[in-house]
Amino acid sequence: MALTGLNIFKLTPKKNCKDCGFPTCLAFSMKVASGAAEIGKCPHMSDESIEKLAEATAPLMKTITLGKGDTEYKLGGETVLFRHEKTFVNRNRFAVAFSDDMEDAQIDTKIQHIKDVNYIRIGEEMKAEFVALKYTGNKDKYLSLINKIKSSGLKVAYVLVCEDPAVIKEALPLVKDENPLIYGVNKDNFNEMVELAKADKIALGVKADGLEALYTLVEQIQKLGYKNLVLDPGAKSIKEAFENTVQIRRINLQGQDRTFGYPSILFLDELAKDDKFIEIALSTLFTMKYGSLLVLNDMDYARALPLYGIRQNIFTDPQKPMRVEVGVYGFNEADDNSPVMCTVDFALTYFTVSGEVERSKVPVWMVIPDAGGYSVLTSWAAGKFTGSVIADMVKKSGITEKTKNRTLIIPGKVAVLKGELEEELPDWNIVVGTTEAMYIPKLLKELTAK
Ligand code: SF4
Repeated sequence: MALTGLNIFKLTPKKNCKDCGFPTCLAFSMKVASGAAEIGKCPHMSDESIEKLAEATAPLMKTITLGKGDTEYKLGGETVLFRHEKTFVNRNRFAVAFSDDMEDAQIDTKIQHIKDVNYIRIGEEMKAEFVALKYTGNKDKYLSLINKIKSSGLKVAYVLVCEDPAVIKEALPLVKDENPLIYGVNKDNFNEMVELAKADKIALGVKADGLEALYTLVEQIQKLGYKNLVLDPGAKSIKEAFENTVQIRRINLQGQDRTFGYPSILFLDELAKDDKFIEIALSTLFTMKYGSLLVLNDMDYARALPLYGIRQNIFTDPQKPMRVEVGVYGFNEADDNSPVMCTVDFALTYFTVSGEVERSKVPVWMVIPDAGGYSVLTSWAAGKFTGSVIADMVKKSGITEKTKNRTLIIPGKVAVLKGELEEELPDWNIVVGTTEAMYIPKLLKELTAK
């Protein structure tokens, strides 16, 4: 239903009373229509009106929370189809698949891989956030797999991949406190699965043969009063999985149909059929086009580097540049003889420059002042990357204690700052660096060869 202030006005035949904290009913209703205020804040609404409007003003796509504490993740809650329209809200997450038919050695190797790939990039922890534990028919082995993962020290959230409610009944208590996802709700078992999940509000992963069947199944589950769902768009072929995933999101956000207003889970390990590189390609595709929880066969650096990089790019606010933390960074085992470079805190610039510094293999200290998160010329033009900003950083960052070397290399694009810096830092030799990052290794080698 198209929702305007007037719709609410009609349903609220009361005089202005300001009980809601807004000056008029119209101001309140406009806020409700934009999703910024809850309809229940007006005490004069009838229950019937509140029910109608609460449904109409609910977000088009639900946010589903999985995991608990340190491993709690939110999926879904998106409002736009394209990042440039606004921003994406909840980044997709990666799961590593295990199953009860795996050898112990295989399980141990995967656990070790998950432990190995865990690093921070621009303040974000990059790691596999979930394990997807697949039941293939051996209940005892399945239960011991869950226990083995639990006692492995992995900090992950759980997906129980099992279509048998009797097995779920025994498996769920083992990880119930971790708020897992139960995956495998289908047209035959949904009544029992909802019954099992309801008491603890455990999210259910729903699967069906094709989009129409999925739509009908979601409606049936919703009729049971359960809306804590994650949808599987289908995994028979790559083409179908992609088509369905995009369709579900379009029907939800463009078609304003809340039946498909849930995050998705995709089993890329099955789609890729043991081809690691297809799996990486698919993961990048579904990171961009609407996969919320992506199940992979393994997590190693070959997968992690491209996938976490693209995810970080896609799931950041395009209006807000990514910034690295202000501070001093050492490269190539910088010591007390190493020269000092300075660049801005814009992540793209920092990683371009630091990549070239690493490539040079020359030990260097890098000083990063607060330059507003812009590129070199933009921050200089905005007055955020000036001689005094750089000089202040050099004086206060503690770099003078880290190195005796008094060579400070500034970006070639702000060569104009050289004079000002020579005045502000009389003990330092100010060197104008390159205008392109790719020439940095040559410059550093020449400088240190002298
Ligand atoms: Fe209008 Fe309700 Fe707000 Fe009173 S509390 S001003 S009736 S919207």
